[in-house]
Formats: sequence, C-alpha cells, structure tokens
Amino acid sequence: MSYLKDFRPSRRGFLGLAGGAAVLSLAAQSHAQPISTKAKIVILGAGAAGAGMANRLVERLDGAEITIVDGRKDHWYQPGFTLIASGLKPAAYSVSGTGDWLPKGVNWVQEYAANIDPEAQVITTAGGDKLPYDYLILATGLTLDWNAIEGFSLDQVGSNGIGAVYAGPDYAEATWRAMDAFTAKGGVGLFGRPATEMKCAGAPLKYTFITDDYLRRKGTRDASQVIYTAHNDTLFSVPVVNEKVKLLFRDRGFDTRWNHVLTGIDAEARTAYYRIPESRVLNPDGTVTVTGARTEAIAFDFTNVIPPQRAPQVVRDSGLSWADKWVDQGWIEVDQGSLRHLRYPNVFGVGDINGVPKGKTAASVKWQIPVVEDHLVADIAGREGTAVYNGYTSCPMITKIGRAMLVEFDYKNNLTPSFPGVIAPLEELWISWLMKEIALKPTYNAMLRGKA
Ligand SMILES: Cc1cc2nc3c(=O)[nH]c(=O)nc-3n(C[C@H](O)[C@H](O)[C@H](O)COP(=O)(O)OP(=O)(O)OC[C@H]3O[C@@H](n4cnc5c(N)ncnc54)[C@H](O)[C@@H]3O)c2cc1C
Repeated sequence: MSYLKDFRPSRRGFLGLAGGAAVLSLAAQSHAQPISTKAKIVILGAGAAGAGMANRLVERLDGAEITIVDGRKDHWYQPGFTLIASGLKPAAYSVSGTGDWLPKGVNWVQEYAANIDPEAQVITTAGGDKLPYDYLILATGLTLDWNAIEGFSLDQVGSNGIGAVYAGPDYAEATWRAMDAFTAKGGVGLFGRPATEMKCAGAPLKYTFITDDYLRRKGTRDASQVIYTAHNDTLFSVPVVNEKVKLLFRDRGFDTRWNHVLTGIDAEARTAYYRIPESRVLNPDGTVTVTGARTEAIAFDFTNVIPPQRAPQVVRDSGLSWADKWVDQGWIEVDQGSLRHLRYPNVFGVGDINGVPKGKTAASVKWQIPVVEDHLVADIAGREGTAVYNGYTSCPMITKIGRAMLVEFDYKNNLTPSFPGVIAPLEELWISWLMKEIALKPTYNAMLRGKA
C-alpha cells in the first residue's frame, strides 16, 4: 500500500517512554479533538491488545458504541511467567482483574465470542447474544494446543519433572517447584519449542539458559545434560541473533538436537517423543531437503512443555484466516503494514492473532495499537489512515539470572535498538536484565491504559 507513510518505532521501542517521530505523532493524535460518531465497534479479547485498544479509542471517539467481549475475569501479564517459573516472583505477580484495565464508556460483555459472521457483521456470544458491528477488532490472542501433545495433560505439571511455563501463572509456579527440585540433584533437562508460530519465541531459550544457571549455582551442572530440541535448523529466526545464541549454547555446553518436533509425553516414564526427519540432504545452495519421518524418544528428569499455538477455533471458523498461509494455524489475513483485513476492510487485527511475519509479543502490541487506531479513526472521519507497522518486536533474552540481551528487530530482520550506543543488543548485560525484571511491567501497564 504505497500511500502509507512510515510509522517505524525505530527509537525507544517498547521500553522507551519518549522520543522519536512515531511518539510525536502519537502525542499529536492524543491531543486531537475527539471525532463525533455513532459507529458500533466490537473488540474481541480484552488482553494486552484489546484493553490497550479500548483505552485509545475512547479518547479518540465521541459517541461511539464500543463493546469489548471476553469471558476471562483475570488479566495475565504473560511476560512475568518466565520470572515466576524461575522462582523470582510469585504467581500473583502476573494476575490482575480484566475489569481494572477497561475504561469507562466501554461495554464489557463477560462472555467469549462463539461465532463471527463478517458478511452479516455480527458477533454471537457463547450465551447466544447477537452483537452487530460497523467495525470489528480481533484481539483474541492465540490458543495453546495442549491436546496436540499425546499423553500430556496440564494436571501433570509440577510432578514427574514436568513443567509448562506457558500455561498460566499457577502452572508457571508449579514449573518452578519442579525445576528447583531438578536443579538440586541434576540429571537431564529437556527443552524446545513448537513448530508453529508462537508468542515470545525467545521464551523457550530463556528458560533453558535460566535452568542451566541454577544447575551451575547449585553445583549440579557437571552431573547434568541440557538438551535443546530445535524444531528446524535454527534457534532464532533473525540470523544474527541465531548465530549469537548458537555461540552461547556451545559455550554453555548444551546438546542441541535439530529438526525435532514434540509429539508426545509419557509422564510416568519421564520420556518425550519427537518427530524427526528420516533423512536430511544439504543442497548446494545451503538449503536442506528433509524426507520421511520417524519417532525418537528422549528421557528427561525435567522438561518444559510448550505446545503448538493456533488462532482460537472461533477465528479459524470465521473465514477471516489466510487460505494459503499458516493453514494449520489460522492467523488472520491482514495487511502487514496497516493491520487491516485484506478482504473485509472494516475488520482489523491487533496482537498475537495477526497473520504477519513477526510480532507475537506484547512489545509488538504496543506498536500495533496506534496503527489500528489511526486507520480506524481515519476511516470514520472519511480519510485514509497513514500509519504503518514495521514489524517491530522485542525479546529481552535472559541468558542467566542478572544478565540479558535486549534483542529488538523488525520485519526485515534489522536490529532496531531502543538505546543505540547505550545498550548493545547482542551483549549479555545487567541493564538489559533490569529492563525485563523491572521496567517491562510498568511499560506494559501503561500500554494497557493507552498511555504508552
Ligand atoms: C511465557 C511467556 C513469556 C512472554 N514474554 C514476553 C516478553 O518478554 N516480552 C513481550 O513483549 N512479550 C512476551 N510474551 C508475549 C505476550 O504476552 C503476548 O504477545 C501478548 O500478551 C499478546 O497480546 P494479545 O492481546 O494478542 O493476547 P492476550 O494478552 O493473550 O489476550 C487475548 C485475550 O483474548 C481473549 N479471548 C480468547 N478467545 C476469545 C473469544 N473467543 N472471545 C473473546 N475473547 C477471547 C482471552 O481470554 C484473552 O483475555 C510472553 C508470553 C508468554 C506466554
């Protein structure tokens, strides 16, 4: 879309609070006169993206009928899960009330959406209520497909050396208890990630580093093996970061197994099952051709299970997903710059649900919200929106307790440091650790309030 002007958050990304053309532009918008409208706007999901979006729209529109639909009473600050599973924060650190973040003037329907009809422009809730809309914002996040791991169930978490950091605050805390017990004795620690797109793709790596650090602190590392199962030939999608993480993995003595996709868990036997290629041939151009599949079993004393991640079923049934991309995952078909649906222009996506090449982090949500706001408000005002999301995402990659690399990048895999010359993105620094441990949550909370 050539008419769109760049809206790149190139400076002071998720963690910075001021500076840069993008921020100036936001300040100008927030002081603009609200636009008078009777538009019916429905937001599906009141998590990071939905709550932040609602707070921005009430400031920009006067008279709009804004409805937010979400059956979940608790709001989860998910970046905190890694800290909880590392014994650094209690489960309560990540929990607040959904209603605490929603502004006056927005109607919260405390149910899940059961049907989306983009032709009739109607949402049906789980209780059967119909919600007609002029504009729809999808902010449902994603679903963790635990059933895809044969033999696994969430009630196993915390016993038999099984962890599941992604499952929620209480499961993250149970994971800490299992990891704490494991690192006291040592043994085989088994880690990895799913083969689908996932939120915070750095989190599986962080937790491997943190467990290794505890083994060293407790003097049990020599009696242990740390295995990381990569779903393909890389550890991270950005080449320069991938090389750095590979170096660190070698340095820490991790045993990396490539092209391993988790398919099952036998909790009693403490064994995980992986689908791996029968054969792999390196082509002259450097690509790898993979053929056939077989199952490999790996025994563990501790593991962190992370399942495949997909759009919620209601979205996958709506006809809003890409038909030719991510077909087993169902992310919605939006323009990667404007985040507007390519077939239904009155539908927008914000957050993890978007079918864009990067951006399943809260840091991305922060930069997606003003873009959707700009296009939606412009449409109501009879103008064309100009803001562009450039794929900004950020991952504070913890490499040990007290050290992290603040990795920030965009669609083109350019590194986009918020503090160039001050915080080097590929160095393990204490200041980057503080960003994750202390600065991230206040910034996240400001985003929910529509202030960041
Ligand atoms: C372990 C872990 C570590 C992470 N670390 C970081 C980090 O360090 N930095 C970072 O930036 N990001 C991190 N993230 C990612 C970040 O939390 C997510 O990217 C962010 O929360 C996405 O926001 P969202 O609004 O799209 O989804 P969510 O915040 O998950 O909200 C989705 C909401 O939609 C609701 N919903 C679902 N289905 C329906 C339906 N049918 N009808 C109505 N509502 C529905 C849900 O109940 C939920 O409230 C981490 C995530 C995890 C799990």
